[in-house]
Amino acid sequence: MQNTQYPTPETFTRANSAAQFETAKTYFPGGVHSPVRAFKSVDGPPVFFQKGEGCHIYDIDHQKYIDFCCSWGPLILGHVHPRVLARVQETVANGMSFGTPTPHDNLIGKLVLDNHRYIEMIRFVSSGTEAVMSAVRLARGVTGRSKVLKFEGCYHGHVDSLMVKAGSGLVTFGISTSAGIPESFAKETIVVPLAEPEQLAAAFREHGHDIAAIIVEPVPANNGLLLQDRSFLQLLRETATQHGSLLIFDEVISGFRVGFEGAAGLYDIQPDIITFGKIIGGGMPVGAYGASKAIMEQVAPVGPVYQAGTLSANPVAMAAGYATLLELLQPGFYEELAQKTQYFTGKLQAHCDAKGYEITFPSVGSIFWPTFTRQRIQRSEEIDGGKMSLFKVMHLECLKRGVYFGPSGYEVGFVSAAHTYEDLDRAAEVIIAALDIVEG
Ligand SMILES: *Cc1c(COP(=O)(O)O)cnc(C)c1O
Repeated sequence: MQNTQYPTPETFTRANSAAQFETAKTYFPGGVHSPVRAFKSVDGPPVFFQKGEGCHIYDIDHQKYIDFCCSWGPLILGHVHPRVLARVQETVANGMSFGTPTPHDNLIGKLVLDNHRYIEMIRFVSSGTEAVMSAVRLARGVTGRSKVLKFEGCYHGHVDSLMVKAGSGLVTFGISTSAGIPESFAKETIVVPLAEPEQLAAAFREHGHDIAAIIVEPVPANNGLLLQDRSFLQLLRETATQHGSLLIFDEVISGFRVGFEGAAGLYDIQPDIITFGKIIGGGMPVGAYGASKAIMEQVAPVGPVYQAGTLSANPVAMAAGYATLLELLQPGFYEELAQKTQYFTGKLQAHCDAKGYEITFPSVGSIFWPTFTRQRIQRSEEIDGGKMSLFKVMHLECLKRGVYFGPSGYEVGFVSAAHTYEDLDRAAEVIIAALDIVEG
């Protein structure tokens, strides 16, 4: 890479990215393959990246950034960790896919199950969406019921029956948030707000006998970071048990992130099914779902719930996941990562407090969310959409100084093991400069 430095507001350019994006728009809807990437809620065209190393990413205009998007969460070790890279290279040289069982299956299977007390068996798929879709089918298959209860502000991938938000009224059936989802599908979903025990109880009073599963992000991190009280998650456990419904923890983002055992371990709550994605693939397209042996043996070919995949447990992807998870089991890994994150958000918070800015940085483990309020936010409706214009300024001013956040104020940031204290000091300086402009 020639001449790669952090940009400054004077030198920052997106000339090459802008040109690529113009071309991409003629090939792909919106120029992208996943909507948020199009930078619709922040300034300018998306930045095109061509290289990552540790916590740094390099764009096609030869500028360097400290990365807090980390591919939306999978890269807990940062980019191209040497031991992950070595294992992937060694594996890929022997073939990319066989469509048969391979020894990698057992390696990662043993590693996960030996170190995760909340599941006994696991099935690998190719994305978080696929994991959730399969988990919901499994819950319906096991219970013989059709409805699913979800929470407003939780994202579960683009699964038809879960792309829904609350309608009006107390206990509401979902209204689809996308064209192309039949009303009859959305009707199978009941949507209630997070952190509202009364509404949950009302939904179960009315529909309890039809509810196959409660699905929740136990650490809701796709619509801001809506940290819940343990008591609410425990209430979900008790309610599900009481009504013969299953509890699904969608841990695609929290799994292996807030601890090796994810949110189940963090809160010590036993869900019936857990979904995984992101970190479990180490940057490759992987998802998985796990449960007790009794529940997992309802899945084909043992049981009647069908689920399959041409590239499921792809050996290269399993190698990336295995090598990543191995690192996470090093003693002190999560403690160190959480300490670094605390140090970083603490520094940002101290500045905002000193200046009297209405900005906070809620965090859990290595997940943090810059939010433009001093209130604790637990429900999506409490997020002030008007404040997203402030995020937009912050995003641009960070970009111009070499700090990369996901391009939406509803997205969380991730600290990786590759971020050093020096990197975090530099990033904090940049973010503080950006926030001074936001508030100035
Ligand atoms: C990212 C995410 C998904 C979707 O995973 P994909 O791999 O993007 O399909 C589902 N649920 C949660 C909680 C997620 O964070």
